[in-house]
Amino acid sequence: MDVWQKELLTGLLLFLAVSIVGGMTGLFMPLALLLTLGMLMRQLFQINRFERWIRTGGRAKYPKTTGIWEEIYYHVYRIKKNEKKRKKKLGKMVDQFRQSTEALPDAAVVLGANDEIEWANKAAREVFGLQQSDKGQRIPNLIRFPEFIRYLKSGNYNEPVILPSPVNHRTTLAVRIIAYGAGLRLLLAQDVTELKRMERMRKDFVANVSHELRTPLTVLKGYLETLQDMDDGESPLLTTSFQQMQGQTERMQHLVDDLLLLTRLETRQKKTECVNIPALLIQICKEAETMNGKASAPALAPYLHPVGNVSSRIELTLETDKHITGEEQELRSAFTNLLGNALKYSPEDSVVKVRWYRFNDSIVLDVEDQGEGIAAADIPRVTERFYRSEVKRVKKVGGTGLGLAIVKHVLMRHDAKLNIVSELGKGSCFSCHFPVKRACN
Ligand code: ADP
Repeated sequence: MDVWQKELLTGLLLFLAVSIVGGMTGLFMPLALLLTLGMLMRQLFQINRFERWIRTGGRAKYPKTTGIWEEIYYHVYRIKKNEKKRKKKLGKMVDQFRQSTEALPDAAVVLGANDEIEWANKAAREVFGLQQSDKGQRIPNLIRFPEFIRYLKSGNYNEPVILPSPVNHRTTLAVRIIAYGAGLRLLLAQDVTELKRMERMRKDFVANVSHELRTPLTVLKGYLETLQDMDDGESPLLTTSFQQMQGQTERMQHLVDDLLLLTRLETRQKKTECVNIPALLIQICKEAETMNGKASAPALAPYLHPVGNVSSRIELTLETDKHITGEEQELRSAFTNLLGNALKYSPEDSVVKVRWYRFNDSIVLDVEDQGEGIAAADIPRVTERFYRSEVKRVKKVGGTGLGLAIVKHVLMRHDAKLNIVSELGKGSCFSCHFPVKRACN
């Protein structure tokens, strides 16, 4: 029998006793009233005791009682005890989390919806010079670098932003923001001073080596030309040796030139002017034709309608006359590389289409060929330095493997993106997407 049934039974037995005694004495009504009043008073007393106990938190051992009230006290006491245990466990976990994030070598700052600091670990306090009292302050008021404020406002946190530490300008930080929860963001900063130093050393080394190679190469080329001029052709071995030596020095010259160009792209400040892209494309197509050793290009039609075949192989279409803010020399290198590749990696009797047009929020240059194409697995890698995809070619095609790396760098410096669509055996289309905000005419 459970307590509730017991309680009910006690009530019924009392009522029965009152009925019997009341029946015998003729005082049933007063006795029944007395019983009801007594039971009511008992319940009121219990409620009052319970309220006092719960008001003090219900954590102390509950008062001694019996019946249903003992059950109620016991269950509430158990719930409170479990809650206390859970709270303790949670507190321990939060402490452990705090301790581990405090010990992290990377700086971590939790930002609220209005960029205010909610919490920062030890590394963040050291690297950004934050104080405990800065809690609640807006982070742009404390880290005032314009590039950081731009990054924070942009909402695009795919790439980290590189900043000097506000405390020590010799420390370089890669700062990244991760959005989570409702409007919360975690700012992480990693010390990349050593990494940047190594990168600078690598760049300096490549720049110095390429620069130093230029003079001996020029001397070698000069002597080789003299020797070739002196060659009377009597020894076929000598003639082929000279030809091979010339081929190799030219290849080396291309390598050195490309490496120097890449170094310049990485280190030189951006210059900007309004570049007439349609005129540049016409010129590049004409030059490509001349390089191919074909007849000179036919007269060119004005912009804004297809220019037609500027050569037997190149079909240039100018659908927009938009100019782009940028560096003409850099853009020339990038476009020449794309066109050169399209001509190089496609059959000599195939057409290469060059198209300059507007598409949504971009102004696009397409260079499309009907050549050998690129395997899907190679597409993400062809813009890496020295990467040349392994395709069985009928004839050996020369190259440095640096052309597309140059294209990628140039486009990056112009806020543009390179898109490659290619299929083995069918051809490739390289598209350069310039944001329309770069248009300048
Ligand atoms: P390079 O042409 O000097 O080898 P690039 O960096 O210009 O170096 O190109 C890298 C590789 O990408 C090339 O070796 C070639 O395999 C592939 N590639 C580039 N452009 C094309 C193209 N239009 N068609 C097919 N393959 C291409």
